Amino acid sequence: MIVLVINCGSSSVKYNLIETEGEAEICSGIVERIGAVTSIIKHQPGNESARKESKVILNHAEALQEIMNFLLSSENKIINSPDDIKAVGHRVVHGGEMFKDSVLIDDVVKEAIEQAFDLAPLHNPPNLKGIEAAQERLPDIPHVAVFDTAFHHSLPPYAYLYGIPNRLYRRHKIRKYGFHGTSHYYVSRQYYKLNEKPKSQIKVVTCHLGNGASIAAIKGGESVDTSMGFTPLSGLVMGTRSGDLDPSILFYIMEKEELSLNALHAMLNRHSGLLGLSGYAADMRDLISEAKNGDRRCQQAIDVFCYNIKKYIGSYMAVMNGCDAILFTAGIGENSPLIRKKSVEEMESMGVVMDQEKNLNITPGKIEKISADSSIVDLYVIPTNEELVIAIDAAKIATASNQSPWI
Ligand code: ADP
Repeated sequence: MIVLVINCGSSSVKYNLIETEGEAEICSGIVERIGAVTSIIKHQPGNESARKESKVILNHAEALQEIMNFLLSSENKIINSPDDIKAVGHRVVHGGEMFKDSVLIDDVVKEAIEQAFDLAPLHNPPNLKGIEAAQERLPDIPHVAVFDTAFHHSLPPYAYLYGIPNRLYRRHKIRKYGFHGTSHYYVSRQYYKLNEKPKSQIKVVTCHLGNGASIAAIKGGESVDTSMGFTPLSGLVMGTRSGDLDPSILFYIMEKEELSLNALHAMLNRHSGLLGLSGYAADMRDLISEAKNGDRRCQQAIDVFCYNIKKYIGSYMAVMNGCDAILFTAGIGENSPLIRKKSVEEMESMGVVMDQEKNLNITPGKIEKISADSSIVDLYVIPTNEELVIAIDAAKIATASNQSPWI
């Protein structure tokens, strides 16, 4: 089945056209800087060379129209008709407490996504815009919402409750939700496929290390804890997000720096993390190269990043009474031997030993084992594929929704 996967940000629409049986990507692309003076459009059809252009794209509906025009154009011949697309899978960041699984989108689901606007103000509003634009352009096929939070629904209350008055949870649903669920789900499943033990007996720690970064403890196929919380701001130090900090710091700096709530929000989300620590860059490649040139603050940012990863790995091993594997994924996890090395070094007493040769010599895009033969815990690099999870879920739900309930 051909499924269109849509991931909408406030000024961007990313897409992937996926054939689900063969798990093959037919085409992918992005429309960026929507609403700016000129928008940038990139398409990557299969193994062909990428196409790039700039033009004015005013809103998400126009971006979607642009994508459909590209897929349907006689020159590109990626699909012959809109009818070739049998379902659309939408990434939705926050499903609140309601969605444990992906769902067929109807008016009630859209209302629930809207109700979660307050919980993810940067993500859910553009996600809903994308749904509405895609439904307008492709009205006759099923649209499915796949939530970043859904996989973490299995967290027990002692892991998702914060130490604040319980009525705040009851009234405002303030609790840990966790994010990057499709990625943690995907890489853990890839590891199960390599393993002879049944899934029910396997415990893994998954490290999704990209611009946004989170770690999850997964026991018997279920997420039992994760580092992101009420929003994607907590947990690890990230590209520009602070990660965990003492909440008293917020009152203190609001007073000392005379910051408004909006300025505080921007400081924590956009000017903190690796960027804030280094004062130089959020991008790990830039930090590594500057640290090599002797920049002390870039080195410190890397040290803080890796120390945090190690603390979460250690605590999740404690939570699960050990683990079978630690899995690295996403931009940094898949591509940086240095960060992987520093994140698990000197953990021999916990059964974690990396093979440094293997760690240095992995093939990009491939699943690679990087633990030493003497290691009790497996270490793997597993490339993530969140779009495939979304496409497969959308295909499953679309197929079920097309079946007559009388058969
Ligand atoms: P997101 O999807 O959250 O935007 P990605 O998963 O694409 O992020 O990861 C982006 C991060 O991966 C950036 O910090 C980038 O520097 C880092 N990265 C990519 N390639 C490398 C590399 N070879 N070495 C170190 N870091 C890398």
